[in-house]
Amino acid sequence: MSDPLANSYYAATAQDWRPRPFDGELACDVAVIGGGFTGLSAALACAERGFSVILFEAEHIGFGASGRNGGQLIPGLRWTASELEAELGRDRADALFDLCWRDNRVRARIAKHGITCDLKTGHLEAAWNPKGFDAMRREADYLARRFGYESEVVEKTGMAVHIASPLYHGGIHDPQGGHFHPLNYAIGLAKAAETAGVRIRENDRVRVIDRSCNDPIELITEQTIIGARYVIDATDSWIGDVEPDLGRYTVPIMNYNIATALLANADELLPSDAAVADSRFVLNYFRLSADKRLIFGGGERYSQTPPRDIAAFVRPFMAEVFPQIADAPIDYGWGGAVAVTRNRLPHIGRRGNIFFAHGFSGHGALVTTLAGELIAEALAGTAERFDVLASLPARPFPGGKWLRRPLATLGLLWYALRDRLG
Ligand SMILES: Cc1cc2nc3c(=O)[nH]c(=O)nc-3n(C[C@H](O)[C@H](O)[C@H](O)COP(=O)(O)OP(=O)(O)OC[C@H]3O[C@@H](n4cnc5c(N)ncnc54)[C@H](O)[C@@H]3O)c2cc1C
Repeated sequence: MSDPLANSYYAATAQDWRPRPFDGELACDVAVIGGGFTGLSAALACAERGFSVILFEAEHIGFGASGRNGGQLIPGLRWTASELEAELGRDRADALFDLCWRDNRVRARIAKHGITCDLKTGHLEAAWNPKGFDAMRREADYLARRFGYESEVVEKTGMAVHIASPLYHGGIHDPQGGHFHPLNYAIGLAKAAETAGVRIRENDRVRVIDRSCNDPIELITEQTIIGARYVIDATDSWIGDVEPDLGRYTVPIMNYNIATALLANADELLPSDAAVADSRFVLNYFRLSADKRLIFGGGERYSQTPPRDIAAFVRPFMAEVFPQIADAPIDYGWGGAVAVTRNRLPHIGRRGNIFFAHGFSGHGALVTTLAGELIAEALAGTAERFDVLASLPARPFPGGKWLRRPLATLGLLWYALRDRLG
């Protein structure tokens, strides 16, 4: 399929790798649908537990959000830890904190498999206005008192250590966060999965999950029919294609990134080499690539049609943050769909022997690896930690098949307007 959003820095600098072709018996214990972080992590962890696994990917490994994202590794979820505690109570907040803030499975996978993906340490959340900075400061204080979690409150006057932009009113620097080359991480996971015995079929789209004979469950793909005891649906933005009921829980929001040409002054823009995300609802997020470009994401579009010129669409956001490179040449511009849930928390669960995890709402680079591993753990019989994520509150969007997206868009536009009004 031709992809109008494929002019990505990541594709241009991806490691050269294709899965090994395989023939023969197509039955397996676990069929994984989707070759992004969630599916790859689940497949790898299942194979490590001795299950026979086949992973189906409609296009190629990392085709979805996992191969296109901003590469920002931000501990936690879209809700702050204090919001989780207020809504879910102390015990559940503790369990979520242990998993989503402390348990960095991405770092562990990179170390275990020697994945080359330009991993860097440090994430800065930058406050768009003084009110946002006050809220950040309170949260950092809460995290330190309640969990002993260390982060640094950066006053407005100290921001130059991290970022050469006058725009921000302070921030929180989190040394547990960081950034990486997401497509090369996905490829690294795929290689590790294959080494662990996972059979990977690219360019084979799953059309139907047939539950009528529950054991095995039958999958009808573009090229074959197979039986599996368990299915893991990790198709994120596309989940409604195979599981229409689950499709009610997310809407895809298009988000765009650019990568400048190599910049001689790159280190002056972001001296500490931290990744940065700002505190607006429609946020700007940016970082340096290993070869010293600025990778910048900004603006959202509620239409599925990409702008004709992605660089021209994103450039004004970059110029607002970094006027000193307003006219820098831009070598790459690409985009992808962020699957967003109604409350911005991921929707994770199981229906019989079918497991799913989707809707990480722009905050999935770290938590997807964890979610995949916890699915494998549950499938092998220990569901305690999986249940922590599966018990997050989730509600479908209202509006049915045709009205769901317009209604969700209206809600998102409202928040975007609030941003502009400060
Ligand atoms: C532009 C952009 C920027 C982002 N920036 C960040 C960031 O900086 N930090 C962060 O934490 N998060 C970010 N995110 C979100 C993050 O990338 C996602 O949450 C995460 O990658 C989701 O991973 P996944 O494996 O669940 O889904 P995906 O990576 O989307 O994988 C799903 C896969 O399923 C395949 N598929 C779909 N249907 C079928 C089918 N029927 N049969 C077989 N295969 C199928 C697709 O081809 C795809 O490869 C961003 C997302 C986007 C789009």
